This record gives sequence, structure tokens and C-alpha cells, in this order.
Amino acid sequence: MKKSLLLLLAVLVSGLIGAAGVKIPSPDNKLVVLVDTKEGTPFYSVTYNGKEFLKQSPLGLNSNMGKFSQQLSMGSNIERKTVNETYLLEKIKRSNITYSANEAVVTFNQDEKPVLDLIFRVSNHDVAFRYKVYPKGETAVCVVNEELTGFVFAQGTTTFLCPQMQPMSGFARTAPSYETSYTTDDEMGKNGLGFGYTFPALFRVNNNGWVLISETGVDGSYCASHLNGHADGLYSIAYPMPEENNGNGTALPGISLPGYTPWRTITVGETLAPIVETTIPFDVVKPKYEALHNCKYTKGSWSWIMKMDENTVFDVQKEYIDFSAKMGWETILVDALWDTQIGHDKIEELSKYGKSKGVDLFLWYNSNGYWNDAPQGPRGVMDNLNNRRKEMAWMQRIGVKGIKVDFFGGDKQVTMQLYEDILHDANDFGLLVIFHGCTLPRGWERMYPNYVASEAVLASEMLHFSQDICNNEAYNATIHPFIRNAVGAMDFGGSALNEYWNATNEAGRGNKRVTSDVFALATAVLFQSSVQHFALAPNNLKDAPVWAIDFMKNVPTTWDETVFIDGYPGKYVVLARRKGDKWFVAGVNAENSIKKMKVSLPMVKSGTQLQVYSDNNSLQGSMKSIKLSKSNTVDIQIPKNGGFVILVE
Ligand code: CA
Repeated sequence: MKKSLLLLLAVLVSGLIGAAGVKIPSPDNKLVVLVDTKEGTPFYSVTYNGKEFLKQSPLGLNSNMGKFSQQLSMGSNIERKTVNETYLLEKIKRSNITYSANEAVVTFNQDEKPVLDLIFRVSNHDVAFRYKVYPKGETAVCVVNEELTGFVFAQGTTTFLCPQMQPMSGFARTAPSYETSYTTDDEMGKNGLGFGYTFPALFRVNNNGWVLISETGVDGSYCASHLNGHADGLYSIAYPMPEENNGNGTALPGISLPGYTPWRTITVGETLAPIVETTIPFDVVKPKYEALHNCKYTKGSWSWIMKMDENTVFDVQKEYIDFSAKMGWETILVDALWDTQIGHDKIEELSKYGKSKGVDLFLWYNSNGYWNDAPQGPRGVMDNLNNRRKEMAWMQRIGVKGIKVDFFGGDKQVTMQLYEDILHDANDFGLLVIFHGCTLPRGWERMYPNYVASEAVLASEMLHFSQDICNNEAYNATIHPFIRNAVGAMDFGGSALNEYWNATNEAGRGNKRVTSDVFALATAVLFQSSVQHFALAPNNLKDAPVWAIDFMKNVPTTWDETVFIDGYPGKYVVLARRKGDKWFVAGVNAENSIKKMKVSLPMVKSGTQLQVYSDNNSLQGSMKSIKLSKSNTVDIQIPKNGGFVILVE
């Protein structure tokens, strides 16, 4: 009797809390956000299928015109609507996207006047929310001093995080540039190297499932943020560090009122499929301008990754044009120092030569400027409106296809504005844009039609520079589809078929690649960017297997569909991607034991002819044609540092 009374009381109390708070369910009612206040302080929590994914977590922000994190009361009028949208996005994961969500706008008042709205969008696996800050009297602008927004996880949750770099550290004081190694299945309660963690951040919530946290819709009207780790499972929004950008520009964002913060996003899954397949970074943003020119996404080669700075010279670039032409690829990337080692006039000649072979140029630029010591030229072009537009007009005249801009100064609002300005100007002159030494893209694939991809990852250059990174290549590759590449296009510049990372693939010189050739093919599918400059070299036409070269000639760089099949970050990963009616199923393994699995292909008719690329136990690859069995499964074995690809034509 006593027990049932207690139970009734518990039900009543939870019922009361439920009644007081605002519930925002997903269209399928499985994902639920609860928003409420406790003694004037706002908070929210997130459940999926009745299971807790985020505990009561803080909300609110403090600005130089008021503290909107306490003494708040929630308005009783909640504006609700449903959002149903279909859009095309050729550049990433799936070309045709449907977004359905429930939106609720929760107003918070202070002294009976609205000061803050929280706008929530809840779709079946994603929560996105942002703040709207109201003007106050004649005050029409404010500086946001601090955002209280946090994400609180249950004890026992493990983390998959990339530490933020120390500002003005690393090569030529170019950090932070999102080039730190991830830790996997780590415990909570740390704060990286003392500077927090970059987005996106993945958490495994005990046996409940997975949560990916990021942000989207960041442009010149705000700074980019990251997460700080605290005790008790709390991770909170942090703004850039004052030292970034050599101390220039404010660390705190300024907004015009009424004004909005970027969207904070939370992707929730009982499995990793919703994490790998999420489109939330693109769902809640809109294109900021129309593409003035047709954007054509291409494959290409670049000499720099094997041959480095000294080979950005005319003859080597010409050789790479011939190489791209032989591969049926449409571009080469002319990397750093072309301004002094080739010169503008000879670039014009090179562009003309390329066009005679059906190969266009991407040109590298230093973003500097005044934010770090990166010495490579061309400098002083992309940071200046006048120089930039003059240079872009020249590029358009000689038929250059795109630019790769490197060595940005950090995450401050002033730098976000520079990214946006470069993209906007490049669009005027028909140029695609790749960023390197840079921040994470935040919805930019959809916001900027001519945006291609960003590095913001420990990329192929580090394989050239460090044997240790080579030894961990498979480990890192099994992480990216779940985290970095899950929220944005990633310019990795990989898929090397050289055995050694040197100019001629000479044995014993430079770092040794420990992964297999099939692994290289698999990462061409696993890592996504709509323009890929692969790390293949002209010598590979002679020293790499014919089946590997043929595969690299034909692998797509844009996809109509992406499906998670199996994996665990840091251990192994298997994905399927579709282009038209062709499926590419790819996987790699970083674990010491041979990974044996039955790959199920329910989307393919049994009896269909498949091409299977796989490794034997000593990482020797081969390709064979088989017919898909009646059970629609293919038996696969992946040795450590190996991979597989099943191609369904
Ligand atoms: Ca870099």
C-alpha cells in the first residue's frame, strides 16, 4: 500500500513537471525535447524512445545589454508549426533531401517583457535550436559575452572528441586549424589540451545509443564555437579564444537586433546510422545566393602531396595535366608557391595547355593577411577585396576552375566574414572554393552554392610528414564517417597508391604506407568531397595494379544516397553510397583481428553481377566478379589496414 502510494506520488510529480514544461516531439514522437525553467533558469533535456540522451542541460546567454540566463519566466504562448521541405543538394550524402520537423518557439520574459526566444526544430533524429535576442528600448545591437548552452550526459557516457588546438601554435603559428587526432571511447570530465573540443563531438550514452553535437548556419554574422568540457558530464558552448588571429578581432560575437545565434544541433540514434546519414547541418539553413555559374564537381590530381613545394613548377604541373587527362580526370590542383615558381604568365600558358587536354586548374592561395606567419605565396590577395576581385577576374579570363585558400586565422567573427566574402566574390567569377588550414564548414554546402569542401581534419599531408600518422591511418579513417565527415564535406586529398610518400615512390625513402591498395580505393568512397584531388602520382600508371587505376578513374565524387551498414568509430566502418543506379559499398578495418562479415545488399537483386575488390591476409589486393547470392549477402574479410569495395553496376 505504502509502495503504491509512493509510486502514485512519483507519477503525479513527474506529471506536474511534464505539465509545467514544454514538450516538443519529433514527427514520429520518438525524439522529445522538454524545455522548462527552474527558479528562473532555463533548461532542456532530450529523450528518444523514452530513454534519456541528454540530462537537464543549461540554456541562456549573457550579453552586454542584459543577462538572459536567469530571472526568466517562460511565456505561456508557444508558437508551434510543422516544417516540411524538400531540397536538392548534389554535394553531399544524398542529392534529394526531405526534411520534416516540428518547430516550437518558446519565449522567455524578464520583467514581463520578452528578451529571448528559443526556436526548436525536432525531426526524427535531430534537434536544432537557436536563440533570438530581442532589441531593448533603443538598443539595437549587442555583444554576446557568454552562451550558457550546455549538453549534460549521464555518468558512464564515453566520448569521441577532437581537442581544440592552442591558438598561434604549430606550423608558422597557424593553429587552430582542426588538425588534432581524435580520442575514442574516452571518459568524460576532461577538457582536451586545455582549450576544449572542436565540433562535431560524438558521445556514446551507455547502452542507450549515440549523440553527435555540432552547430550550423555560421556566417559573418557570428563567430564559430566549440565545446568546453567540465565535471559532471557537462559540455558547454565556448567562443573563440582571444589569442586566435594573432589577437586581432574580437573573440565575442556582435549581433544586430533582433538577432539570432547559429543553430546548435543534436543528432540522436540508438545505432550509428542516424549519425552517419544526418543532413541536419543543411536542413535548417538556406542558400545565401544563387550560383551565377554552373558548378561542375570533378576529380583531379595534385603534385604537392607526393612532390612538395619544390615541384610546383611548370614542367611538373604539365606532367600532372597529362596524368589527369590519362585518368579521365578534369582538374589539377596547383599548390603553394606557383606565383614565384611559375608566375602568372606561365599559369596562363598552363591553363591553355590544360584546356587542350580537357583539364582545368585549381589554384592555391594563402589567406593572409595579418594572422599568422605562413610564408607561402601568393599572399596578400585573398584577404583584400580589391586584390581578390582583380585576381578572380584574371582567373575567370584564363579559365581557372577553382581556388584552394589556406592558413586562416581561427574562428572569430572577423574570419567567418572573410570566408563568406571569398565565397561570395568567387561566385561572381565562376570559381569553386576549397578551404585548407581552416575551420569546420557549418552548413556551407547548402548556404554557398560554389563552396566545395574544407580540410579541418588531420589530412593526407600528415601521412607525408609522419610515419606515426601513417601507422594510424586506418584508425583515423574509421572515425571520419561518424564524426568530421558526418557534418561537412572533407578535403582529405588521399587515396595514395604510392608505397612510399616520396616524389618517385622510391623504396625506403619517406614514410611507408601501411594500408593496402584496396584500402585506398575504399577511402575514395568513404571520405566525401564533391571535388576530389587524389594523392595518386603519374608513376602509378606503371606501378599500381590496373584494377586499382581503373577504379580510381571511375569513382564518383557526388552521391545520390548514403547508407550506414556497420562499424564502430576507431575500429571499422562499412558504408554504401549510390550514384544513379550504381552502388559502391566500401569498408576498412583498423582492428588487429581480421574482420569477417556478411554484407547484406537488400537493395540489389540476387544474381546481379558484382565487382568485389578485397585483400588477402598479407594485404595483397585483387578484383573478382561474382554473382550476388540468393540470400543477397556477400562474405567479406578485411585484414587490419585493409579494405573492400563492392561495386554494383
Ligand atoms: Ca593543413
